[in-house]
Amino acid sequence: AQGRDRFVGSTPQEVLLSVFGYPDFRSLQAQAVERVMAGQETLVLMPTGGGKSICYQVPALCRPGMGLVVSPLIALMDDQVAGLRQVGINAAALHSELESDEAAKIRNDLAAGALDILYVSPERLLSPGTLERLSRQKISLIAIDEAHCISAWGHEFRPEYRALAALPRHFPGVPRIALTATADQRTRDDILAALDMPQASVLVSSFHRPNLNITALPKGSETKQLVSALERHKNEACIVYCGSRARTERIAASLREKGWTALAFHAGLSPLEKRAALLRFRAGEPLVIVATIAFGMGIDRPDVRAVIHMDMPASPEGYYQQIGRAGRDGLPSDTVLLYGGDDMARARHWLELSNAPDTEKRVMRSRLEAMIALTETTGCRTAALLHCFGETLSEPCGHCDNCRHPVVTFDGTEAARKFLSTIYRTGQKYGALHIINVLRGKRTDMVERNQHDSLSVWGIGKDKPESFWRSVTRQLIAHGALRSEGQYGGLALNANIARPILRGEQSLQLRADATAELENAATLRG
Ligand code: ADP
Repeated sequence: AQGRDRFVGSTPQEVLLSVFGYPDFRSLQAQAVERVMAGQETLVLMPTGGGKSICYQVPALCRPGMGLVVSPLIALMDDQVAGLRQVGINAAALHSELESDEAAKIRNDLAAGALDILYVSPERLLSPGTLERLSRQKISLIAIDEAHCISAWGHEFRPEYRALAALPRHFPGVPRIALTATADQRTRDDILAALDMPQASVLVSSFHRPNLNITALPKGSETKQLVSALERHKNEACIVYCGSRARTERIAASLREKGWTALAFHAGLSPLEKRAALLRFRAGEPLVIVATIAFGMGIDRPDVRAVIHMDMPASPEGYYQQIGRAGRDGLPSDTVLLYGGDDMARARHWLELSNAPDTEKRVMRSRLEAMIALTETTGCRTAALLHCFGETLSEPCGHCDNCRHPVVTFDGTEAARKFLSTIYRTGQKYGALHIINVLRGKRTDMVERNQHDSLSVWGIGKDKPESFWRSVTRQLIAHGALRSEGQYGGLALNANIARPILRGEQSLQLRADATAELENAATLRG
C-alpha cells in the first residue's frame, strides 16, 4: 500500500523494526502500544530517555489515519519531526514560528491525507481553523506529550493545556495517550482529571537510573568543590546548574579563568547567543555549560558525564529531571548537589513572599520540604529520590555518597519519639514551628489559646535548639514518618511508620552533620 495508511495491517513489532530499526520494545512500550492499538486511553509515566515517543509513534502508524501529537515546545517538535523524516515518515509540526509557505505546505499535505504524524502546539490545535481542517481527517490517535504541563501542581504548568480536555468532543472515539516524565501521584491524578480520562490505564516505568552516582554535599568552598567535581571530567561534557543568571555568568567566567571551556546559559541571553551555545553543546565538543534551569527540556546529548548543582533545586521533580540529563548513553556519570542551610532558608523565604495563590504555594512548599529532606537523608540517596516518585528500591544502590561513605549519625529514637508524640498530642494539625515551640516550652499566643502548656509533652525538648528540631522534622519527613498536609502545612503522622517508633519497637538513626548548617539557616530566616 501507498500513502498514509501503508503500515495498516503490519504488526507493531514489524513497524518497530522496519521503520525504527529496533528489534524489541522496551517492556512498557509494548504494553502502551498494545493498549493504544486496542483503542484504550492510556497514561504513560516514563523517565526522560525512557523511550516515550515510540509508545505513540508506532500505533499512530499501525492504526488507520493520521497521528496527532500535542507538544509544548517547538524545539522538541522540530527534533521529533526531523527524526521521523529521516526514517521515511511524513511528519510535520504546526506551530506559531512557521514561515507562511511552510504552513501552507502542511495544510496541503493535511488536506491530501498525506501526513503520517502531525505535531501541533496546544494553542494552534484548538484554534478554529485547525480544528476544522483536522476534523475532516481520520485521526489514528491523539498523543499528549509532556502531559504534566496540564497540572498546576507541576513546575511547568501551561494554561493552554487545560483546554485539551475538549479534545474528545472534537474527535470522538479517537484514543488518547498522555505521556510524561513527572511521576508523582498528585501530578498523575491531575492529568487524569484534567483530561477527563479516569478509566485510562496508567503505565509506570521505573525511574531508577543505575548509572547515575548521586552525591550531595553541604556547601563549603563552592569553587573548590565545583572544580574538584569537574576535575574527574576533563574534556567531557558537563552541566553546572545555578540558582540565578548572575551566578551562571560569574561561575562560567571563573571556570574559564581556570582554563575550562565554559559557557553561561540562561533565559536572558539573546536568541543568537542561545543558539550558538546549543549548537556547540549538541555538536559534541567537550564543554561545561553553566546554566539556569532554562537549559533543559529538549536537550538530548547522550554523553553528559556530570551534572552539578551549585544551588538546591526547589523540588525533587526538578532535581530528578536535571540530573537525568547526565549519562543518557547509560555510561556511569556523576551528579553532585551542593546545598546549604541558607539555600533552604532563602527558598522558604521567597516562597512565603511569593504572590502565588495559596493552593500553589502549599504545593511548592511541600515539594521544597521533600527536596530538603532528600539532602538530609542518611540512607541510600538513590532510594530516597525514587521514594519521592512512589518507587521502592529493593536494596541500596551501593554507589551514591551515602552508600559509599556512611554518614555520621546518632540514635535519634528518643528525639523522634518526643517529636512524634507532640504532634499526636496536639491533634496532628499544626506546622513544625508550633510543634517545636511546644517541645521547647516556648509560650506563644497559639500555645496559650490551645492550652498546650498543660500537655505532658510541654517542654520535653528544651535541651535542644530549634535548629536541632528543624533537622529532626525534615528527617522524619524524609523517613516517611510524617507528612505535611492541610491548608496550613500541618504535620500529621504516617501511622504505619510512626507507630513503631512511638512504641519503641523501632529505633531511628538521624544524621548529625546537618545541625550546624541549620544554625546558619536560623539566623537568615529571622
Ligand atoms: P523520551 O521521550 O522518553 O525522553 P525518547 O522517545 O526520546 O525518550 O527515546 C530515548 C532514546 O531511546 C532514543 O534515542 C530512542 O531512539 C531510544 N529508544 C526508544 N525505544 C527504543 C527501543 N525499543 N529499542 C532501542 N532504543 C530505543
